[in-house]
Amino acid sequence: MPNFSREKVLSVKHWNESLFTFQTTRHDGLRFRNGEFVMVGLESDNKPLMRAYSIASPNYADVLEFFSIKVANGPLTSKLQHIKKGDEVLVSSKPTGTLVLDHLLDGRNLFLLSTGTGLAPFLSLVQDPEIYARFEKVIITHGVRYLSELAYSDFLTGGIKKNELIGDLAEDQLLYYPTVTREIFSNKGRLTELMLSGKLFADLKLPQPDKKDRFMVCGSPSMLQDICTILDKWGFEQAEKKDTTGDYVIERAFVDS
Ligand SMILES: Cc1cc2nc3c(=O)[nH]c(=O)nc-3n(C[C@H](O)[C@H](O)[C@H](O)COP(=O)(O)OP(=O)(O)OC[C@H]3O[C@@H](n4cnc5c(N)ncnc54)[C@H](O)[C@@H]3O)c2cc1C
Repeated sequence: MPNFSREKVLSVKHWNESLFTFQTTRHDGLRFRNGEFVMVGLESDNKPLMRAYSIASPNYADVLEFFSIKVANGPLTSKLQHIKKGDEVLVSSKPTGTLVLDHLLDGRNLFLLSTGTGLAPFLSLVQDPEIYARFEKVIITHGVRYLSELAYSDFLTGGIKKNELIGDLAEDQLLYYPTVTREIFSNKGRLTELMLSGKLFADLKLPQPDKKDRFMVCGSPSMLQDICTILDKWGFEQAEKKDTTGDYVIERAFVDS
């Protein structure tokens, strides 16, 4: 397989003025582990303009799905947000990343803590049968500022349960916890505050996490820092290197300039 392939856009869905999802064809040779990211981009001035993107679809799907921000002056997304069905995007052929089940020790409950587009790798992971075999409950959290940013909520509360492979498992074992900071909603506040107050666990009717529980975290650099501080204080150990396992793993949802 070449360094990157040209894939056809199959569909585009705009959630609001700052978020969209697109699906593309998938090169036969592209193999990835659920939770990994690839480089995605467009040709600009005859050169590839590429950015890291988590794959939101599971590795058994025929198509690739990506969940994207629209940055007004962003070199890539100021253009990418205008793609439509039939257009071409570039997708790199070497997926990588730390948010993979191989890096986690077995455990009781697995918390997937995300903010913004940090949800993307977890959309892939919650469609992986292995996650349900290894953990009793899988909790997918999504922290956003506004209600319109709660992308995929219909999928996570309904659509996923129709998946032939993992639908029944998700019905029994998957818990979805969206939270909003700047509008009125049933779950309100930052994930960090909800963890520290214990409200997150009480609302989910789960015990306060202990050494048996595991975490995967994907969000802004500052969210990662705050969550790592909490998890470290609670005695959890991060899998820091590629070939190690730990109680938790993290990945940046973007890099701050
Ligand atoms: C490992 C990894 C995985 C990533 N996965 C995704 C993904 O699945 N979906 C996605 O939309 N982006 C993802 N990103 C970010 C992505 O690589 C680009 O930064 C994004 O597409 C914007 O590109 P740009 O060229 O338009 O602007 P850039 O020049 O890349 O970014 C400009 C600024 O916009 C802000 N920004 C960039 N990306 C985001 C974001 N996702 N959410 C909030 N603010 C942002 C930051 O402040 C950044 O400095 C990922 C980044 C990393 C490191």
